[in-house]
Amino acid sequence: MNEYDSAKMLDLLGEKSNFEVTNDESAADLLVLNTCSIREKAQERVFHQVGRWKALKEKNPNLKIAIGGCVASQEGEAISKRAPAVDIVFGPQTLHKLPDLYEESYNDGSRKLDISFPKIEKFDHFPQPQAEGPSAFVSIAEGCNKYCSFCVVPHTRGHEVSRPFNDILQEVTALANQGVREINFLGQNVNNFKGEKNGDKSSLAELIRDAAMIKNIDRIRFTTSHPFEFKEDLVDLYLDVPELVSHVHLPVQSGSNRILKLMRRRYTKESYLDLVYRIKNNRPDISFSSDFIVGFPGETQDDFQETLDIIDEVKFDESFSFIYSPRPNTPAAKMEDDVSLEEKKDRLRILQNKLNNYSSQISRKMVGTSERCLVTDISKRNPGEFQGRTENNRVVNFSASKNFIGSFINLEIVEAKPNSLRGNFTGGTIN
Ligand code: SAH
Repeated sequence: MNEYDSAKMLDLLGEKSNFEVTNDESAADLLVLNTCSIREKAQERVFHQVGRWKALKEKNPNLKIAIGGCVASQEGEAISKRAPAVDIVFGPQTLHKLPDLYEESYNDGSRKLDISFPKIEKFDHFPQPQAEGPSAFVSIAEGCNKYCSFCVVPHTRGHEVSRPFNDILQEVTALANQGVREINFLGQNVNNFKGEKNGDKSSLAELIRDAAMIKNIDRIRFTTSHPFEFKEDLVDLYLDVPELVSHVHLPVQSGSNRILKLMRRRYTKESYLDLVYRIKNNRPDISFSSDFIVGFPGETQDDFQETLDIIDEVKFDESFSFIYSPRPNTPAAKMEDDVSLEEKKDRLRILQNKLNNYSSQISRKMVGTSERCLVTDISKRNPGEFQGRTENNRVVNFSASKNFIGSFINLEIVEAKPNSLRGNFTGGTIN
């Protein structure tokens, strides 16, 4: 989501303020930091970065520093109090105002702050989307009403709002016309999408069905779905929409019903597993990835063991896992937490080992198979090679005498490395 927002900031600053991107900080007239406050660590890094940038202002008195995103939303005025070098503070829902805020600050030297939550207004201000390769993010819903007890998102991104159905399809069509083959629909709670369609509420399933019919669009992903909102019409799509990838990111957070309740996740271990098996029923080769929090206040060894058990049950693909971090204004931050940091670190290590075992098992199983890959880029490590992505989003590096970026090709997987796969291109269908 933040990557998507940053790309929109660049588009806006290019179109409305004639800014160009530079890789040289000291050449910049505007430095923008798009921030995340999901955990405390991410938040602290903001102030360290501003500390480093402050010195650049002495050399370039015109330089403006802008802080956007969720730390800005959460801290507001406190940001420029703690870091007076900051000129502009804006939130996730006011990023479309950045060109105006910059201009005002440039003209009169004043500090600017706008962290309000105007309802979905920003989307009407974005220039035509610019494709940056064959895969694109499209934000379809903003904010979240779930209020999980650990999570800061409803406080920083505001209430959940869905974009109108047809606006999204228009954006997808515009991207497809620029060569985009894969769409990743984004939302904090993406499967609760209810965008207005001809006066009625629509659903993520409907949106995926229609997007799959758009010429060129051959792969559709969505992040992040909430298990509670994963309705039957979405499960059904795995039967007959081949464009929908055989991979679901479905954050479980914990395998203990006691902890899930304290987290206010609205599902149980049993209902989560039931969902997994219903999806698998429709798409037997599907893989699941997840998010985990260890060391939630009061998590016992038994609770933790139940999280390990659910990993053994589902055998998750590459996942994300974190030590619980107390966030301002969240109920969990007030709960008693008697688990030591040492213990939490131990649990994280054990959990990550288990996750890594399963994800490398999946990689090893892919060796010897032929995978349909979208060629997305030049290889990061070897500019003489290319990089493709499998359905379960694994990177495959391979060499080819022709540039296939933007096409789907079949690659024979010959080696599984820790963070990527190696493939052979042996000819065959290209589309
Ligand atoms: N909206 C998504 C998650 C967005 S945040 C959902 O509901 O699933 C991505 C992940 O960060 C979460 O899934 C969770 O695992 C982690 N996370 C969120 N708040 C956290 C906190 N306070 N401490 C540690 N991890 C957290």
